[in-house]
Amino acid sequence: MPAPQTPPPHAPDAPATPSSSVHTALITGATSGIGAEFARQLARAGHALVLVARDVERLAATATALRDRHGVAVETIAADLATDTGVDRIVARIAEGRDHPGRFVDLLVNNAGFGTKGSLIAGDGAAQEAMVRLHVLAVHRLTDAALRPMVARGGGAIITVSSVASYLTSPGNVNYCATKAYQRMAMEALAREVSRHGVYVQAFCPGFTRTEFHARADMSTAPIPRVLWMDVDRAVAASLAALEARRPTTVIPGFLNRAIVTLLGFMPRWLLSRGTRPYAATRGAERASGA
Ligand code: NAP
Repeated sequence: MPAPQTPPPHAPDAPATPSSSVHTALITGATSGIGAEFARQLARAGHALVLVARDVERLAATATALRDRHGVAVETIAADLATDTGVDRIVARIAEGRDHPGRFVDLLVNNAGFGTKGSLIAGDGAAQEAMVRLHVLAVHRLTDAALRPMVARGGGAIITVSSVASYLTSPGNVNYCATKAYQRMAMEALAREVSRHGVYVQAFCPGFTRTEFHARADMSTAPIPRVLWMDVDRAVAASLAALEARRPTTVIPGFLNRAIVTLLGFMPRWLLSRGTRPYAATRGAERASGA
């Protein structure tokens, strides 16, 4: 297995968290926001990358920028992970690592995801189905594909980007919270299943993070207090620091986010679903539909 490359001398950034055990990372949703920041920080630390997203031009531009700045090998695969064919393509790429050590993916970052606006019955059914496919089925299939060669080699890591929303039930965000809960709970259990094989699994649970996420979903961010927002570089650094230390399984970046999750643990279920308006941020759509 090739050793991580040293960043070229012209790279202006200080080395990021080294993640010394990772050589090639496959990141889904790597062209924007949290996924793009994982790509930047891992590239800065000298790791080869496989970037996955749908937008071919943006993938190519992201890869070129990372190669130029950090001198690492960057492969791109355009795939819609809400479709079977898109997931098949990535599963096939991961499987190549079984027989070809140079193609082994030793870090999988399940990050691609999106939010929707409005109640389930008022909303776009196709988008809801795509969310379940992307957040649940794709994560399951890619994780399954990556785990087998990792277990066979006795090492590797999987990070799945869940959310603080995984601790909530939220009218206006029915499938988002439910699919994020799937991701967190699956990773928490899986971590215990595979740690004895030397494989590290993390459920990464950011709170409000400055990315394209809210604009893409046409969500208003006005009701969300500024204090709740986190910059994407700090959030991702917390995940990679935990990866490097091989603990803990569930990573919630930021003191405030951890405090919120702790408080949520004391709240009765009925109060939980009433207190999540900022996550819904969509009352207009519900009113318009009468839902
Ligand atoms: P973002 O800036 O909108 O980035 C989303 C990324 O996912 C893009 O690269 C997008 O690229 C890709 N993507 C979306 N649908 C895809 C599909 N069907 N197939 C393949 N790639 C797809 O959002 P973000 O905030 O970074 O979100 C990343 C993850 O963080 C999500 O899972 C989200 O749930 C989670 N999260 C975000 C926040 C937040 O406040 N931002 C908080 C907690 C958790 P293409 O459009 O080119 O495919």
